[in-house]
Amino acid sequence: MSADCIFCAIVDGEIPGNVVYEDEDVLAFLDANPLAKGHTLVIPKAHHETLGDLPGDLGAAIGRVATELAPAVEAAVDADGTTVAFNNGEAAGQEVPHVHCHVVPRFDGDGYGPIHALFGAGPELDDDEIATIGDAIRDEQ
Ligand code: AMP
Ligand code: ZN
Repeated sequence: MSADCIFCAIVDGEIPGNVVYEDEDVLAFLDANPLAKGHTLVIPKAHHETLGDLPGDLGAAIGRVATELAPAVEAAVDADGTTVAFNNGEAAGQEVPHVHCHVVPRFDGDGYGPIHALFGAGPELDDDEIATIGDAIRDEQ
C-alpha cells in the first residue's frame, strides 16, 4: 500500500472501482477513462511501480489473469480482438505508478493500428548490433 496511490486506494476500497475480477493477489477493474468500451486494467494488489519491481510470481499472476480476461472482455462488448499492454515506466507514458496491464478491446476497422504504429520505422541496426544487444539482454538475467 502506498499512501498517495490511486490504485492502492481502489484495492483498499477507499475509492470506488468497477471490479470485474479479484483474487488474493490480483484485481481487475474498468478504466475510468476508457480508450474503448470494456477497457480493463489488471493490477497486483501490492504496490509495485514498474515490471522490474514486480516479484516473478505476481508477474505470472497478472499474465494469467490478463490472458483469461481478454476473451471475456471481448465477448462482453462484442469486440473482435484486444490490445494487451503495459506502459512500463514514465518514458513509456506510465502515469499511474502502480503496475497495470491494459486490456483494450479492438474492433474491426477501428483504425487505431497495432502497437507498431507507436514507433514508426524504428532504428536501423546491423547484424553485429543486434547480436550485441542479444548478448546484453542474456547477461542481465
Ligand atoms: P497509464 O497511462 O498506463 O498509467 O494508465 C493509467 C490508466 O488509469 C488510464 O487509462 C486512466 O484512465 C486510468 N485511471 C486513472 N484513475 C483511475 C481510476 N480512479 N479508476 C479507474 N481507472 C483509472
Ligand atoms: Zn499502489
